[in-house]
Amino acid sequence: MAPNVTSTTTLFMAEAAVCPTSKLTTLRRPSSATMPSMVPVGQAVGSPAPPTATTMASAKASVVDRPVAEDPYAWHIVWRNVIAFAYLHYAAVRGLYVFFSGGIAFPTYLWTAVLVVLSAQGITAGAHRLWAHRAYKARLPLRVLLMLCQTLAFQNHIYEWVRDHRVHHKFTDTDADPHNASRGFFFSHMGWLMVRKHPDVRRKGAGVDMSDLEQDSVVMFQKKSYLVLMPLIAFFLPAYVPYKLWGESFWAAYYVSSMMRYVLSLHGTWLVNSAAHIWGMRPVDKSISPTENYFVAHVAFGEGWHNYHHVFPWDYKAAELGDYYGNITTAILDFMCYIGQAYDLKTVSKEMVERRVARTGDGTHPSVQDKQQPHHHHHHHHHGDEVWGWGDKDMPQDDVLGATIINKSD
Ligand SMILES: [Zn+2]
Ligand SMILES: [Zn+2]
Repeated sequence: MAPNVTSTTTLFMAEAAVCPTSKLTTLRRPSSATMPSMVPVGQAVGSPAPPTATTMASAKASVVDRPVAEDPYAWHIVWRNVIAFAYLHYAAVRGLYVFFSGGIAFPTYLWTAVLVVLSAQGITAGAHRLWAHRAYKARLPLRVLLMLCQTLAFQNHIYEWVRDHRVHHKFTDTDADPHNASRGFFFSHMGWLMVRKHPDVRRKGAGVDMSDLEQDSVVMFQKKSYLVLMPLIAFFLPAYVPYKLWGESFWAAYYVSSMMRYVLSLHGTWLVNSAAHIWGMRPVDKSISPTENYFVAHVAFGEGWHNYHHVFPWDYKAAELGDYYGNITTAILDFMCYIGQAYDLKTVSKEMVERRVARTGDGTHPSVQDKQQPHHHHHHHHHGDEVWGWGDKDMPQDDVLGATIINKSD
């Protein structure tokens, strides 16, 4: 997921002017191990090397044809963002203190919990599964609701969030990936928001199709009015409503319902980019970094089944599981389908998953655990076979024809 607080064009934390000094060429590189000096792995300031550095290195070793910087990607810290994050975290800690010391009334606790769920759905059901991956379609009322919820989450407007996220799926763990997890935990978690973006992010991102969003009036309305909508919905109303309706202290509500709620939800989203790209099993495709991560699945409302998700990004469940375990978002989407607000929900049959698991999985999937792996040769991962979601022109025809579509519109 691409929770970029910062942006190229909007907001007080706008950064991402590209690093002007990096000269880039595309080199053919059989293995990262042969040219270690060129790979900026785990260089995030203050970031400890992840415990699975060897796993990461072996996953990376299978990646060929990556664009490689002649000089290591030099990081230009965007101090405005660093200061903004420092303030946000200070305010969130203050909010945590108020929260745990009983400094707010009971309705404010409830209100904060409701906001957490709504803002999470704006990201998971909205920006992520609906708009970035086109995993289902939504009628106007649901799109308006999800747009408001996504504004509450303040991870930039939908259009920009989707562009970053499609680029992440198309160019996972390369320089063009905004939160390239091969640079380590801290960078992929939040460090990427504190430095200028790699030039490849902009260059390759420009080629990603965004025409479907340009035709969505709800998305374009939000984009146009974001500088008014966002501060109002994400920060002012969460504090003003408790103050006005049940006499809460405005500042207590501000620290808890605006700041603490916002910063905690950011970390929940960021874990999908960091932890779920580093720690966990890879039952569906062992050649990519994303993993199935139970912890992340729970704190990110169902977005931690990430190995599966990167293989089948157009599945509205973002997981292969048929139940709602660690996946509240899927339960909500099924309800939206039931009342007719969501339709054309795309998913993957068990057989299709198992075929892929047998071909590329790491052997931890239940369907192959008891059997010998059919073949052990190293799977080479070629960039260019990744898709951002339903409608990507690179989608394999097998997937298009084999997809299961629920509540089909025609
Ligand atoms: Zn995704
Ligand atoms: Zn990912």
